[in-house]
Amino acid sequence: MLVHPTYRSARRALRLRPLLRFLALLVWPLVLVSCSPSGEGAASASKAQPHGPIRIVATTGMLADAARAIGGEQASVQALMGPGVDPHYYKASQGDIARLRNADLVVHNGLHLEGRMQDVLEALGRSKPVFALSDGLPEARLRLVGDAAGSKVYDPHVWFDVQLWSTGIRHLADVFGQAFPEYNETFQNNATAYLGELERLDQNLRKTYATVPEANRVLVTSHDAFSYFGQAYGFDVRGLQGVSTVSEVSLRDLANLVDTLVTRQIPAVFVESSVSPRTIQSLVEGCRQKGWEIAIGGELFSDAMGDAGTPEGRYTGMLEHNARLIVEGLGGQWNAADGASADARALPKTHSAS
Ligand SMILES: [Zn+2]
Repeated sequence: MLVHPTYRSARRALRLRPLLRFLALLVWPLVLVSCSPSGEGAASASKAQPHGPIRIVATTGMLADAARAIGGEQASVQALMGPGVDPHYYKASQGDIARLRNADLVVHNGLHLEGRMQDVLEALGRSKPVFALSDGLPEARLRLVGDAAGSKVYDPHVWFDVQLWSTGIRHLADVFGQAFPEYNETFQNNATAYLGELERLDQNLRKTYATVPEANRVLVTSHDAFSYFGQAYGFDVRGLQGVSTVSEVSLRDLANLVDTLVTRQIPAVFVESSVSPRTIQSLVEGCRQKGWEIAIGGELFSDAMGDAGTPEGRYTGMLEHNARLIVEGLGGQWNAADGASADARALPKTHSAS
C-alpha cells in the first residue's frame, strides 16, 4: 500500500481535527459577537455582509463550482488551485494565505487531498468557518486505502462518484446555512437546483458508460484517482501511481500493468491534466515491445478542472469531457445529446471572482 509522506501527520491530524473543528464552531460566533478590531477576518464574516457578497475561498475548482452554485448571488467564490494544478503537492502561496485570511468562509475537500495545506487549514479553523466536503460523507461510502500509524486513510477523489459528491454538496449547503443563517433558505434552494443538474449528469454518464463493451471496461491512468468512478460506473480501474501523486511507480507495477493490457487487449490508456504523462508513455512503450499497439486516449481531468469559461471549467463539463474520451477510447458510443445537458453549460449567476 502506497502511503505518501504527507500522510505522516495523518494520525495526529485525524485525532485533532474533529476536536479543533468542534472548538472552532464554538468559538467563532463568540469572536464575531465580541468583534474585536484586531480580529479582522472573523469580524467581517458577521454583520449581514456590509461588505457585499460572502467571500468564499475553495481549494479546488470542483469545490469552487459547488460553492458558486450554493452561494449564488450571495457569494463571491475563489478557487486557490487552477487548471492543471496537482492538489497532492500544493502548498499555499503568500497570495493564497492573504486570500484565506480575507475569506468569510473556506471550503476544502478533506481526506488529506490538500495534504500540504493541512496546518494552514487547521489554523484558519480557529478564527473562521472552515468546512470539508468530505465531513458530510458516510464513512461506509469511503474507500479505505491504508493505515497511517494506526489511523485510517481514505481515498480523497470523491468527486468522481456524482452521487457521493452530491451527498457532500448537501452537507456544504447545510453548514453554509449554519454559518450564515440569514441565507440558509437561499442556499438550500440553490443546492437543490444544482443537485438536480448533477442527478441528470449522473444518469447520462451511466447511459454513456454502459455503451463500452464489458471486456474493455478497464481504465488505466497516471495515478489512482478514478476508483470511486470505477465503483460507481462499473470499470476496473488501475492507476500507475497510488492515490497520491507523491508516491513512486515501481517497475514491477509497470510490468504487471503492461501484461494486463496486452492480455486483455485494452485499446487505450489515458493521461491526466494535472499529472506528468511520463509514466503513461512508458506503459505504451512496454505494450509496444510486446506487440500490442495501445493508444493514448487523451487527457482526462482528474484532480483539477479545465480553463475557466470553457465547459470543462465546470464540474459537469469536466465529467462529460472525461466520459467522451473514455467511451471513444474504449470502444463505446458517445452521444453528445446524452452528455451535455444544455443547462449544464451556462454559468450560474454569481459574483464569480476567479
Ligand atoms: Zn489525486
